[in-house]
Amino acid sequence: MINADTGGGAHKSPWVRKGLLFVVSAPSGAGKTTLCKEVVKYIPNLQHSISYTTRAARLTEMNGTDYHFVSVEEFKKMITEDEFVEWAIVHGNYYGTSKKDLNNLLDNGIDVVLDIDSQGANQIKKKFSNGAFIYVLPPSFEDLKQRLTIRKGDSPDEIMRRLKMAREEVKEYRIYDYLIVNDDFVIALERLKSIIISSRIKIDRVNPDWVKYNFFA
Ligand code: 5GP
Repeated sequence: MINADTGGGAHKSPWVRKGLLFVVSAPSGAGKTTLCKEVVKYIPNLQHSISYTTRAARLTEMNGTDYHFVSVEEFKKMITEDEFVEWAIVHGNYYGTSKKDLNNLLDNGIDVVLDIDSQGANQIKKKFSNGAFIYVLPPSFEDLKQRLTIRKGDSPDEIMRRLKMAREEVKEYRIYDYLIVNDDFVIALERLKSIIISSRIKIDRVNPDWVKYNFFA
C-alpha cells in the first residue's frame, strides 16, 4: 500500500509523508482496545501508540507492550518536564501519550492509533489538524454492564465506577467524527479499517511535488 514516501525523492509518493492520527475513544468495556490492537495487524504502516499509566497491570498485560507502567512520581515528573502531548486522570489513575514517541512515528510517515479517553481526545483535537476522531459504543448500556462483568481483572467496585463514568462519557460523543457500534466485532473492525483507508486518500494529503513531477514536468 502506498502511504509514506518510499524513498528516492519527495515526488515519488502521491501522499505527504507526515503520518495521520486516529483517535479512538469509548467507554471502558466497549471493545475499543481489542479493535485498536487488531486493526494494526491488517493495515500496513499503522501503529498503536503505547501510553504511560500509573494503573496496575492486569494479569494479561505486559509492560512496554500494552502500556508503559510507571509510578505516580515518575508520571508527575513527566508532566513537569512537558513530556506528554496529552494526559488525563481516568478512573483515578494517570494516563498519557508521550510527545516524543508520537512525533517520532508521525515524522517517519507512520499513521498512529491513539486509544485514549475523551479528555485526551479533546486535547489532541486542539493540537492536531490531521486527525480522525472515532467513537466506539456497545449496542446498549446493559450490554456494557455484561461485558465489564465478564472481563477478568477489575473488582466489583471498579466495575461500578467504570459504568458510572461510561454514562458521563457517552454525553461527549459529539466531539468525534465517526461512530462505530461494536455489536458484531468483524463489522466494527471493517468500519475502522474503512475510516483509516479513506482518510489516507483525502485530497489534503496529496503531495504537490508528485502532481508536478508526474503531470507537469
Ligand atoms: P484501561 O485502564 O481500561 O486500559 O483504560 C482506561 C481508559 O483510559 C480508556 O478509556 C483508555 O482509552 C484511556 N487511556 C488509555 N491510555 C490513555 C492515554 O494515554 N491518555 C488518555 N487521555 N486516556 C488513555
